[in-house]
Amino acid sequence: MKLVIVGTGYVGLVSGLCFAEFGFETICVDKDKERIALLNKGKCPFYEPELENLLKKHINKTKLLTLSLSISEAMSDANIVFITVGTPSKRLEDEADISAVYKVAEEIADNIKNYCVVVTKSTVPVGTTRKVSNIIASKIDKNKFDAVSNPEFLREGSAVNDFMRPDRVVLGCENIKSEKIMREVYRPLYLSETPIIVTTIESAEIIKYASNSFLATKISFINQVSDLCETVGGNIQDVAKAMGYDKRIGSKFLHAGPGYGGSCFPKDVRAFSVTAKKNNVNLSIVDAVNDFNQNRPEKLVQKIVNYFGGLKNKSLAILGLSFKPNTDDVRDSTSILIAESLHKLGAFVKAYDPKAMKNAKEILPNLQYCDSVNEACENVDAIIIATEWNEFRALDLKKLKKNMRKAIIFDLRNIYNKDEVTNSEFEYYGVGK
Ligand code: NAD
Repeated sequence: MKLVIVGTGYVGLVSGLCFAEFGFETICVDKDKERIALLNKGKCPFYEPELENLLKKHINKTKLLTLSLSISEAMSDANIVFITVGTPSKRLEDEADISAVYKVAEEIADNIKNYCVVVTKSTVPVGTTRKVSNIIASKIDKNKFDAVSNPEFLREGSAVNDFMRPDRVVLGCENIKSEKIMREVYRPLYLSETPIIVTTIESAEIIKYASNSFLATKISFINQVSDLCETVGGNIQDVAKAMGYDKRIGSKFLHAGPGYGGSCFPKDVRAFSVTAKKNNVNLSIVDAVNDFNQNRPEKLVQKIVNYFGGLKNKSLAILGLSFKPNTDDVRDSTSILIAESLHKLGAFVKAYDPKAMKNAKEILPNLQYCDSVNEACENVDAIIIATEWNEFRALDLKKLKKNMRKAIIFDLRNIYNKDEVTNSEFEYYGVGK
């Protein structure tokens, strides 16, 4: 079985390397020359735990993974081709931009020689995979290919583990032939008894958006309840913990904070809403989730502004810039939005992140980037914990305090409790408590 993956981003590279780890001959294609050159040197273009080791193993030792700039070269004897290119929001719009998917579909159509399964793994609005199929069918005989939707659920920061041990695999297939081939590719997961859910193409596409929107709903919900806790004197961590023990609710995604960010949830929630509107279906819950979340980072910024009565001449340390720990991805990161807003409101912002500073500098060049937590916290009026990296969970507060102007922590991720921080003579402000 020979696999081709088009797009070597977080999803494409992880998928390609994990398929190689399963023992399949895999070719990863990208149009970005620098990216392919870097990958060929065994270097990962982004930070994702375990990925570089897999890359080195499969390009140097097993040689199961090769890299290419050309779909045509890669496709020569492919059995399956996965489309894993980006589907960001259109500029200044909520709708998903799927032009890259269609462009790749055209190129695939021009290069199919023997029967092959064409898989949309990118997150795409319902109807896209059928359109991919139509694009290809307009150029080649329909019995030379089948289109399948196989949405990806990996999370950045634990992508390799998620891919190798997923909660489920979803296959939107039109016929037994393509289903059999797809089952073959995921056969290594049978050992761990991974549920394989076979559905129509439409259901598979909807499952991905419904899943992300549901998780986003949990986050906005708990953030709204945390506002109530703050107003009436509750503690959101106690509330969420007790709620989470109810198996019907579950404890995941019930953490109050600055709202959801990252390269998926914000754009997927908005695109799901667009799909509903286009089809005259009421998905107002999803709209409410999006509206609330969009204002969430600014709302937390306002709390900091109100505390100080303005940010002129204030110096603030922001810890964490990536949208979540264990990644260098800053796309739609709430930490970036917060840092930017604090800077615009007149604060001198010193920033530190274990992995994401290079990416952050490209979008926010005006912060002062520091090499360590200690350096970031020198001469500041407050520490803001924006992303919950592990290394921020046990800060030496007594030591940090010595070099700070004031000892205040705004813990936007609730990684500390008030008592342990106040024992170190810090003022402490969490979220929803
Ligand atoms: P990404 O932006 O990191 O990578 C996309 C890659 O595709 C880039 O390297 C780009 O150069 C390449 N590309 C674009 N057009 C191309 C073309 N015509 N030919 C060859 N290569 C091309 O994207 P990502 O974060 O990996 O996301 C990919 C898709 O997977 C999106 O639809 C996303 O919503 C979905 N998804 C992402 C995640 C995640 O955690 N990042 C998780 C699940 C699903």
